[in-house]
Amino acid sequence: MISKIIAEDLITKVKKAIDTVDKIVIVVHIGPDGDAMGSSLALWHYLMTIEKEPVIIIPNAFPGFLSWMPGIDCVLDYEKNKEASDELIAGADLIFTLDFNTASRMGDMADSIINASADKILIDHHLHSDTFAKIRVSYPEISSTSELIFRLICRMGDFSMINLACAECIYTGMMTDTGGFTYNSNNQEIYTIIAELIKLGIDKDDIYRKVFNTYSVDRLKLMGFCLFHKMKVYPEYRAALITLTAKELNQFNYIIGDAEGFVNIPLSIDGVIFSVFIREDDKLNNLKISLRSQGTFPANKVAADLFNGGGHLNAAGGESSLSLEEAIRKFEEALPEYQDFLE
Ligand code: 5GP
Ligand code: MN
Repeated sequence: MISKIIAEDLITKVKKAIDTVDKIVIVVHIGPDGDAMGSSLALWHYLMTIEKEPVIIIPNAFPGFLSWMPGIDCVLDYEKNKEASDELIAGADLIFTLDFNTASRMGDMADSIINASADKILIDHHLHSDTFAKIRVSYPEISSTSELIFRLICRMGDFSMINLACAECIYTGMMTDTGGFTYNSNNQEIYTIIAELIKLGIDKDDIYRKVFNTYSVDRLKLMGFCLFHKMKVYPEYRAALITLTAKELNQFNYIIGDAEGFVNIPLSIDGVIFSVFIREDDKLNNLKISLRSQGTFPANKVAADLFNGGGHLNAAGGESSLSLEEAIRKFEEALPEYQDFLE
């Protein structure tokens, strides 16, 4: 049995909203990850099955390791199709915003979405969701938005409308947001849901391989380089930091997604419970920061305190306009302030 986490009145509202419209836009956060793409594509497949007209618009490109996902060729990239996207957004009857809690996470798309006349439905698992959406299906205790999509479809009485493609997308998001079920994944119902997805025909081992074992030689060499030359461990603070400059990334022909997961690696060092990865990114203000922790150490608090960010307790991120040197200094100076959180 899967418990009824989503409130009944929300299920009724979402169902009614979908039933009464045709043109539906689905948007996700900037730097779309496996859960953003998984949840949006799962919802897209479901809406196609019930004969709606959904369009997914993403703020910028998704990483190459997700390019195999069913339906991904139909996704519109706002950065590359601004005019067409704005037209679709303005003409939409209903807009789903998936896998983020604040409007600023939509990047350049934010204004168009906020100003659109369509009703908005947020479906998300981050703390403290904004009020830009009329209906908010916000459950931070659930480890992925993709899992929320599964729960939502089932509760609307449409389990039979989940086809294989939809199931594969749900699984992808559940798997990537839990690091292949290695964190945030002790809720037994996750495995009941996976059993249902396997019954629908997904090959979970193949999905794992396609997401985690299809990287380039350049990525592996970049990983080796940053672990050998660019990782600093602070044993007294049980922390580690990896930094990469734009120049270093270029040396390894960096493409989006190549540094995915690097931040997790130092957590495999005995005693390290907090890991930070900072890289220069000319598409952002200057720096993209990823933070991961174990146990009760609040990665999201550090992201908010130091890098204008946020996220989950154990997986957070942020951006900064500081120079890399300034950011490193800021991080190192702040480390002692978090000593109380060390277990
Ligand atoms: P990642 O390190 O994989 O980019 O992000 C991990 C998590 O941190 C995301 O799921 C999201 O919750 C949060 N996050 C990442 N970047 C940002 C950001 O710039 N601002 C905020 N508020 N949260 C972020
Ligand atoms: Mn997510």
